[in-house]
Amino acid sequence: MPEPDQSKLRVLLSAAMIHERIQALGAEIHAAYPEGPIYMIGILKGSWIFLADLVRAIPRHVRVEFIGISSYGKGKTSSGEVRLTKDIDASLEGKDVIVVEDIVDTGVTLTYLIQLLQQRRPRSIKVAALLDKPSRRLRPIQPNYCGFTVPDEFVVGYGLDFAEDYRNLPDICVVE
Ligand code: 5GP
Repeated sequence: MPEPDQSKLRVLLSAAMIHERIQALGAEIHAAYPEGPIYMIGILKGSWIFLADLVRAIPRHVRVEFIGISSYGKGKTSSGEVRLTKDIDASLEGKDVIVVEDIVDTGVTLTYLIQLLQQRRPRSIKVAALLDKPSRRLRPIQPNYCGFTVPDEFVVGYGLDFAEDYRNLPDICVVE
């Protein structure tokens, strides 16, 4: 298989910028929860690298779970359909939960997921998103913890894909 054509990528956020911002987010989250473990639920697959770095920036007990949601097809455009493809194993009743998302775009995925997880009666539920693309929002949802606000461009890298490629780029790039 040929390597992806790097010339079509423009760095938007460098690995160093991402690292620095995540250290600050981790400290903010740690300070906001006075006691007990935090249940960090990563949405597959885009959030896995962000989640891995974020939990290491939080100096306390955290529990890590993954949930699978399919909201985008294999291209750049949304299928408009949200579906649970993998559920978590742990009970969330009475727990402090943070849903960890790579990017909030229309907000459809998160709105669906938050409604679903609320039914499991957590003590609190918040959202940490690495990226926020507010210009395309269709649902009134804002991440409680946000890494960066980005313009309306399609981004890849640091876990985010285009048709399953580019997840392993250390920087976040715009596909031109
Ligand atoms: P929403 O339901 O908020 O429209 O969509 C959120 C999901 O769409 C994200 O978790 C991500 O999978 C995908 N998405 C939205 N914008 C982008 C983007 O710029 N790049 C990539 N790779 N995925 C995106």
